[in-house]
Amino acid sequence: MNEAPRVTLTVKDGVAVIVVDNPPVNAISHAVRAGILAAVSEIEDGGKVEAAVLTAAGRTFMSGSDIREFDFPQKEPHLELVNAALEALAVPIVAAIHGTALGGGFELAMACHYRVADAKAKVGLPEVNLGLIPGAGGTQRLPRLIGAKAALELIQAGRHVAAPEALKLGMIDEIAMGDVLATAIAAAKRLAVEKNIPRTRARVVSTAGLPADFFAEQRAAAQKKFRGFPAPMAAVDLVEAAVKQPFAEGRALEAEASRHFKASAESKALRHLFFAEREVARIPDVPKDTPVRAIQSVGVIGAGTMGRGIALSFLNAGFPVIIVETKQEALDRGLAAIDQTLARDVGKGRLPADQKAERLARLNGALDLTALAGADLIIEAAFENMVIKRRLFAQLDKVCKPGAILASNTSTLDLNHIAAATSRPADVIGTHFFSPANIMRLLEIVRGRETAKDVVATLMDVAKRIGKVGVLSGVCFGFIGNRMFEGYVRESQRLLLEGATPGQVDKALTDFGMAMGPCAVCDLAGLDVSYLTREGNRAHMPNDPSYCVLGDKLYHLGRLGQKTGTGFYLYENGKAKTDPDVETLIRAEASRLGIEQRAITDEEIVERCLLPMISEAAQILDEGIALRASDIDVVWCTGYGFPRFRGGPLWYADGLGLANVVTRMAAIAARLGNPHGYWTPAPLLKRLAAEGKGFGDLAK
Ligand code: NAD
Repeated sequence: MNEAPRVTLTVKDGVAVIVVDNPPVNAISHAVRAGILAAVSEIEDGGKVEAAVLTAAGRTFMSGSDIREFDFPQKEPHLELVNAALEALAVPIVAAIHGTALGGGFELAMACHYRVADAKAKVGLPEVNLGLIPGAGGTQRLPRLIGAKAALELIQAGRHVAAPEALKLGMIDEIAMGDVLATAIAAAKRLAVEKNIPRTRARVVSTAGLPADFFAEQRAAAQKKFRGFPAPMAAVDLVEAAVKQPFAEGRALEAEASRHFKASAESKALRHLFFAEREVARIPDVPKDTPVRAIQSVGVIGAGTMGRGIALSFLNAGFPVIIVETKQEALDRGLAAIDQTLARDVGKGRLPADQKAERLARLNGALDLTALAGADLIIEAAFENMVIKRRLFAQLDKVCKPGAILASNTSTLDLNHIAAATSRPADVIGTHFFSPANIMRLLEIVRGRETAKDVVATLMDVAKRIGKVGVLSGVCFGFIGNRMFEGYVRESQRLLLEGATPGQVDKALTDFGMAMGPCAVCDLAGLDVSYLTREGNRAHMPNDPSYCVLGDKLYHLGRLGQKTGTGFYLYENGKAKTDPDVETLIRAEASRLGIEQRAITDEEIVERCLLPMISEAAQILDEGIALRASDIDVVWCTGYGFPRFRGGPLWYADGLGLANVVTRMAAIAARLGNPHGYWTPAPLLKRLAAEGKGFGDLAK
């Protein structure tokens, strides 16, 4: 348990300093709000104070509100009451910001009369990331500080703004060259001498240069841009209120909107993911203080699709990388592709040109595994073939220094069998990156039977260092994500045979919120990739002649998806179009298999694709492949484009009610038959449903 938060007030030379001390991040809990308010009253009553400063102890200013309190009605005093009291002070009060002042933290700072920040500080209103809008004056004060346009952009993006940009925009007034507190005290004294108390609420919002229909335009743009996310849409109305209405009226609208969004399903789902993404790093038998191995240099085997992306991830995070290929030509192609990706980033202004050179200077290529002798971490991304991988790992065992971590990017092969090709299976682990590996945030970290705890701890740490969300998975075919994806894709293709079109299936699922529909995803990933995966696993596949038969047919026709310009769709100038040939193929296959075609509703598509996934997830949990239900939600939201506003497949399932999930599976089984057990709920799902529980109850 944290100690009770302390808010202290000290007065020196006529300047009162309020210090909030609520480790680790000075979250604005109820006690913090009450403490600041008490300090403000003391300043008002004391009479000996000429100026004041609000600051925080430890590593950061108030980093934000205490999100756990959002599930309950906020206890008095509300943050805006505290803000109003700060703002109304008769003496100038200055916020001294170090670390981050986000959300409620920045709202407190905006209520002060002047803001001084450390050069490295960050400020912002990221509430939309949790499905919320700033609820303590943020939507009314930010436009008054920086103008309507910039404020709306920042509130909608929920972006953290670094001090130099914040100064330019007017979010802060001064960057401290030396000590922030001393600079803030000096500023407070100066304002006192000048008798200058600039209250944010009293300012007029700048609309300079904006067209008359600015808000109408913004409203229309938001409808398109923020599908499924009502909070950034509502921000338009609230910033408009800041422009057109007195502070108190705008504030009343904000309070109402804030209450509404806190209670919304979207915000609850996003808050669930916020905690899930933090919980994911907790591994019960690998305590936080487990020592990690020093990783200073990285080797990558294979410069294909994945090797390139993996190398880039490490280069971007500052590691030196050696990439090993079998042939000079393949190596050159890989290195050139990395160069091109960095050049594109420079072209788009995402990367300064000198940083491209600096990153490339840390990259070396080789044609011999002995080049990896000094590497601390080696990630193998060669062909998905057990013989090749075992041979490579046996060689690595001979070449690599003791203590080096040997990782495989295999997506389907048995990691334990790969590890057994070495004399050091404790040092072997799976690192399942997602394509494109330099972009996708998910990294499944696959723990083999013998993987050492410090190797697990090291990879979880490495994931963070390269900006990924590491999720621990046990060894099984497809790990967490792809194992669930299998049922999803199977049903999507079966629905085509029953009468849906690729366009309809994809649209039903993108309307549900998926980033892409399954047919488009298969075309993007390559129909050869999914075909070869099935080939490698035929022995364990259901004896179902319709099973992914369309994927197989397209593969045999050489229609491999986007890479060949034809797959489920026809690609012209990068745009997917319906292909009549595919519709003919689907009809022919349906008739060959004796499947009657019928009209299919979008509801059926969503249900048929999602329920098998949920049941498989229950089985994954039961087998201990995933540590917890929320980890599965993280996998799907960070790696598979599952809509974040639905919280992940298991949060969504809990929302449906597991008894309903089981009932719906039984209804589908009754209608379609269940010869392959597709619609038999996993035992854990059945048990939870019978007990009236959800996946969320497993954590309790
Ligand atoms: P790829 O065919 O694009 O690249 C593999 C590369 O490895 C080739 O350039 C090949 O020349 C090289 N290679 C083969 N044997 C080698 C050896 N002995 N030494 C050095 N280099 C060697 O394949 P990919 O799509 O990058 O997949 C690589 C691995 O990543 C596979 O295990 C695959 O299952 C896995 N994976 C792929 C994806 C994906 O979306 N493509 C996603 C996750 C995991």
